[in-house]
Amino acid sequence: MDPNLLQTPITYLKGVGPNRAQALQSELGIRTYEDLLSLYPNRYIDKTKYYKINELERNSAEVQLIGKIVHLKTIEQKKGKRLVATFVDNTGEMELVWFRGQKWIKEQLQINVPYVIFGRTNWFNGTFSMPHPDMELLSDHEQGLRIAMQPIYPSTEKLSNKGITNRVVSNLVKQLFTETKGIYPETLSDQILEDLKLISSSEAIFNIHFPRDQHLLARAQFRLKFEELFYIQLQLISKKLLRKQKIKGFPFSQVGEHFNTFYKDHLPFELTSAQQRVIKEIRADLGSNAQMNRLLQGDVGSGKTIVALMSMLLAIDNGFQSCLVAPTEILANQHFNGLKEILGSMDIKLALLTGSVKKSVRKGIHEQLESGELHILVGTHAVLEHKVQFHNLGLAIIDEQHRFGVAQRSKLWHKNDIPPHILVMTATPIPRTLAMSLYGDLDISIIDELPPGRKPVKTVHRFDANRLKVFRFIKDEIKKGRQIYVVYPLIQESQALDYKDLMDGYESMVREFPLPQYQISIVHGQMKSEDKDYEMARFVKGETHIMVATTVIEVGVNIPNATVMIIESAERFGLSQLHQLRGRVGRGGDQSYCILMTGQKLTSEAKTRLETMVQTNDGFEIAEVDLKLRGPGDLMGTQQSGLLNLKIADIVKDNDILKTARYFAIQLLNEDPGLQLEKNKALRISYARLLKHKNIWNYIS
Ligand code: ADP
Ligand code: MG
Repeated sequence: MDPNLLQTPITYLKGVGPNRAQALQSELGIRTYEDLLSLYPNRYIDKTKYYKINELERNSAEVQLIGKIVHLKTIEQKKGKRLVATFVDNTGEMELVWFRGQKWIKEQLQINVPYVIFGRTNWFNGTFSMPHPDMELLSDHEQGLRIAMQPIYPSTEKLSNKGITNRVVSNLVKQLFTETKGIYPETLSDQILEDLKLISSSEAIFNIHFPRDQHLLARAQFRLKFEELFYIQLQLISKKLLRKQKIKGFPFSQVGEHFNTFYKDHLPFELTSAQQRVIKEIRADLGSNAQMNRLLQGDVGSGKTIVALMSMLLAIDNGFQSCLVAPTEILANQHFNGLKEILGSMDIKLALLTGSVKKSVRKGIHEQLESGELHILVGTHAVLEHKVQFHNLGLAIIDEQHRFGVAQRSKLWHKNDIPPHILVMTATPIPRTLAMSLYGDLDISIIDELPPGRKPVKTVHRFDANRLKVFRFIKDEIKKGRQIYVVYPLIQESQALDYKDLMDGYESMVREFPLPQYQISIVHGQMKSEDKDYEMARFVKGETHIMVATTVIEVGVNIPNATVMIIESAERFGLSQLHQLRGRVGRGGDQSYCILMTGQKLTSEAKTRLETMVQTNDGFEIAEVDLKLRGPGDLMGTQQSGLLNLKIADIVKDNDILKTARYFAIQLLNEDPGLQLEKNKALRISYARLLKHKNIWNYIS
């Protein structure tokens, strides 16, 4: 067939006029034949199977049965009448129920004559019932021509308002099959088709729309899911290979003066073995000729900062500059101050660049960066701006990567002609398979061990009604010299209300914890950054006992003396956010606590989140639950929500297919990196087409 046929605009299809074309495009993004073919049904109505009454399950699925009505009665109730039929087959009985059109139905129904019925079942009072079943006499049913499994397509309100019903869409797809004769180019190689026993592209496309039976549907789904995941993996892995082979990195060939001096004289503690291992991995990358692109995962408090610092010392030893980019000013400040302190007397020049650095100071920083005088630049997004130019940026580190988009990561690539080594760090643990799909182009290091002596944070859930007890507990902790966080949610959509909650909460804290005995800081996004810094600094120095804040303190902040984290309206936070917040305490040697405050009414999902938090401190376990609750789209936070807009595969459920796809992609690229071999021609053509139409970043950002 003509390969361009699939690119034909949908208006050429019989039955699609300008109005329909417009609606299909704006509502479902369908412009071409190909788009329509890949509008996969959400589900199917299965009329291939005839159930027996004793096979019914309490899952309210749609089922089809054969049987007879033996009895018909009208039941009067307060809300109105209903018509109830007793329906039997040779395995049992059930009820058919009508609330509307009873008179007409009663006249039509025949007693003791075999019917085929179809509908959704309910389980009530020990009996199955089916409201408003579709009914057909068995004798008619046997003569009729039917599609066994009827596709139900994704739709929107606008579409149905315009009369583009499921039947219309389904007919358009049928029409398309007629016009194209249902023959489509094969997109996978014979080898893969054979190894995995896959059905052909044409067969899969037909059966995903009009499955001949459940078995073929399953095979069609498997093939299409595999294909989708395979090409994503192919992109990710070939990117990685390309980088390793072609993109020369700066070889940091030596471990020198700075690294060694620091290690001998300035390291404030012994590294955990996980930290040592990760530093080794990074050193191996930096010493090779290829550019490093590594993701460092480590739970909150696992000590990623020191790993970052030691990597930057390696850069200095090899004559390069580095930068450390953080998602918030508070965090950038803290990194800057922390690094300065830990480096002590060492002769290393570092500077801080954030949005609130004054112009005059900024100018000096720019000059020192360009002359190469400055070794390390710590900052926020401000560092990524084009006008920030380095003399020779050798290593760029992004802290709390989940707060940054892919686009920002790529900005760092272009600071030099040769891209710097890149290390991205995240405390949001990502389940392995998800990491594979999202960061398949990165190497991954994991710090899976906390520094010694940490006591796990004790987490409890308390209802607002028990607030007084919580206040008493806070007073006791303050008496012991500890500090307390109280965090309020701040959601974009309800900002004004949320600020009001925060201020109300602050005022009630001030009443409960009066001056001069108690000092309270407050930090939120609407404050000037000088004021934020001032308040933050007072808390860091231990001058205030309580820090009332919005989630600005979520990431990174490190104050070991703070031992209590109170999270207000905890039911409104996602799991990964709760885990991040809890990570702000438990950073010193003292027992720490996390108190999740909520109202009385909780959804079952909120309950699961709270229970998970109470039960475990393990970030990976929490991430798995989060993934199950929310699906992958939301997992990485708002920056990357909607990520992986997959058409048919589901990263959570199709884990095994993902692994298979990755395996096959790796095998293929090992054997034929350029997809040059004749036997891989189909793959080469499909891959090229894919790259032209959608780059991988379409899936991710
Ligand atoms: P995160 O991984 O969350 O960024 P940090 O780097 O902020 O964690 O480290 C958390 C705290 O643990 C800091 O106070 C840091 O000094 C301390 N720390 C890090 N590594 C060790 C270690 N090996 N032994 C003892 N304390 C450590
Ligand atoms: Mg950190």
